[in-house]
Amino acid sequence: MKTALVCGAGGFIGSHLVKRLKEDGFWVRGVDLKYPEFWNTSADDFAIGDLRDYSFCRQIVDQGFDEVYQLAADMGGAGFVFTGENDADIMQNSASINLNMLEACYRRNVGRVFYSSSACMYPEYNQLDPDNPNCAEDSAYPAEPDSEYGWEKLFSERMYFAYQRNKGLEVRVARYHNIFGPYGSWRDGREKAPAAICRKVASTPNGGELEIWGDGEQTRSFLYVDECLEGTLRLMRSNSSGPVNIGSDEMVSINQLADIVMNIAGKKLVKNHIEGPLGVRGRNSDNKLIEQELGWRPSRPLREGLEKTYRWIEEQLRNKGRLPGNGAAS
Ligand code: NAD
Repeated sequence: MKTALVCGAGGFIGSHLVKRLKEDGFWVRGVDLKYPEFWNTSADDFAIGDLRDYSFCRQIVDQGFDEVYQLAADMGGAGFVFTGENDADIMQNSASINLNMLEACYRRNVGRVFYSSSACMYPEYNQLDPDNPNCAEDSAYPAEPDSEYGWEKLFSERMYFAYQRNKGLEVRVARYHNIFGPYGSWRDGREKAPAAICRKVASTPNGGELEIWGDGEQTRSFLYVDECLEGTLRLMRSNSSGPVNIGSDEMVSINQLADIVMNIAGKKLVKNHIEGPLGVRGRNSDNKLIEQELGWRPSRPLREGLEKTYRWIEEQLRNKGRLPGNGAAS
């Protein structure tokens, strides 16, 4: 039986990945500071511990693994990453995890290591025009990410490739673009735009007000978690090391995203544009390279994933008695 280790298995993508690997017949160990918050882990074994501690990293890879997925990071949406208040923690925590896990995987001679980088490592100067952002993989340099989160991702992806070049460790690196879906952060300050908008729409009575950060004309693309996992596993088992984008190329403005969610909910709310942390003006996944390398690219429509995510968030609110007509709306 093949074995996999998932670091960050208590988080959003990690908990979905564990489930998918189990469905594919793997024996899976999950590792995190915490268990998944919204559902039970599917892992065969789940180690609670801190990956900033090198001896813990050595311990959890000790039995050897065919595949290691390093998804653990200190991260969140714009409200966490772009305020500047968490920069030192983000850099210290995430870089420490990657330094430790890479060395531990190399020492234990694991089969292959996957690292989840982010579109946040792309230079800001290529993402100023909301209609024509450039996020082709080879546009990364000269580097100028707009957040310390992005700089840490860039540093760490370089470190993974350095271990491959100098020490023979097989690595795979993907640059994820805004992944969303059920069982992710939706109200703890780390949630991203799709979950935040679903929550606000679900908790506001028809005709009420919908707060949106900025003018809402900033563009993004959003990838449903199932397709993210499909791309991740295909990359992991391919001959391509990356880095490749794993994202949707269905670009929408945040105003359009809000319109789709309102349409799903059957509500019409009045958009109220307020000040807030924004990030780059435009971003979209460039999927030429993934198509070329893997013969596959994400293809499902944004609306499909948003419907599932909206229904899940609506259910969370219902369980807490926070749907309109049921008490407070926030
Ligand atoms: P998440 O925050 O839900 O999961 C990350 C997990 O890492 C958390 O459960 C957290 O507890 C764990 N972790 C943090 N510090 C740890 C430590 N010291 N020891 C052990 N565990 C620790 O995030 P996610 O959305 O599932 O993202 C997974 C990965 O994908 C991250 O590396 C993230 O940077 C990357 N990524 C995500 C997106 C996205 O849109 N979700 C986009 C780009 C890149």
